[in-house]
Amino acid sequence: MQPYKPDAVIVDRGSEGSVVHGNLQRALPDVPFVVVDDPEEYAQLDSGPDPLAHGKQHLLLMPHKGEFLKKCPGSDGQVCCNYFVINFASNCPMDCTYCYLQDYLAENPALKIFSNVDDLLRESQELLGRHREFFFRIGTGEITDSLALDSLIGFAAETVPFFAEQRNVLLELKTKSDCVEGLLGLDPKERVVVSWSMNPQRVIDAHESLTASFEERLDAAVRCQEAGYKLGFHFDPMVEYPGWETDYRTMVERTFACIDARRVAWLSMGVLRTTPSLKRIMRRRFPDTRILSGEQILCPDGKMRYFQPLRVHMYRKMLEWIRQASPTVFVYLCMETREVWDQVFGFFPSCEKELGERLTAGLGD
Ligand code: SF4
Repeated sequence: MQPYKPDAVIVDRGSEGSVVHGNLQRALPDVPFVVVDDPEEYAQLDSGPDPLAHGKQHLLLMPHKGEFLKKCPGSDGQVCCNYFVINFASNCPMDCTYCYLQDYLAENPALKIFSNVDDLLRESQELLGRHREFFFRIGTGEITDSLALDSLIGFAAETVPFFAEQRNVLLELKTKSDCVEGLLGLDPKERVVVSWSMNPQRVIDAHESLTASFEERLDAAVRCQEAGYKLGFHFDPMVEYPGWETDYRTMVERTFACIDARRVAWLSMGVLRTTPSLKRIMRRRFPDTRILSGEQILCPDGKMRYFQPLRVHMYRKMLEWIRQASPTVFVYLCMETREVWDQVFGFFPSCEKELGERLTAGLGD
């Protein structure tokens, strides 16, 4: 995977003394750093015909205003897994055709890193301390990739030791990169899951620009496993095309041939999801993409998905291959209805708390 290198780092006046600023300066000695009063305004100057692509070319370093920790919003009517998210950054240096951030961050596409990591840790400490009776799952990959920038910003080194010491949390670092060097010397103490969004190389080549290859992701997972991390895999978004069954089956078999299934905390499946507005952006930014050629229907939560029978067929096939490789690994569906859960697994969680508890069974005091 090509390491990300911005054209410039735009620094908020006041963030120059932060740990992240020092890490960026060490990692990017030949990149210009510009200190300004308003990085966002500065970055919007001359954003050109594709503000999303322009936004990825500069790295903004600024404090986060407001709360870092939020409950994952989930999706109306879908089974939710009771997840919290920490936003330490906004937007992503990679460029997947289907990325929902293209729509979600359309008005604010700058690639931002937040400099006040101390506030993030303080807020986490307060939340975890206030609810010792509750076991949290917290992820950092909702509006960015958890690790793609880690070799530049050193976020893992700041946060993993903190979460490793907590007794009521599992931190998930979700990525499509192979940037795990910063994790390998740390002791996660069974409190950190490093997870990969996985797709066959054919899908990566066509739709996951600037990400690590399938084999690079798998190799990074093996290194994390050897370093003591739990692993997660998200077969999401699954894309239907002629020959998908062979590719996805091979992907599942290859994954389980390389890793120790006993170290897998969870595995999720989800099909391609879009919205009408995301489709318009995708057609404009990727006019030759064939990912939108399959039929999708608008669901009650406002997202477009393949027809339910096709989704159920795809999940059942995947589950069959996963079960052949590992009869016991925990598998769940991402953003799917109770009907689909029932048809795939023969049950559905009665509430989000139940699914959250299944995901963290055996952990905590
Ligand atoms: S890696 Fe994730 S966040 Fe980054 S562009 Fe792809 S889908 Fe979006």
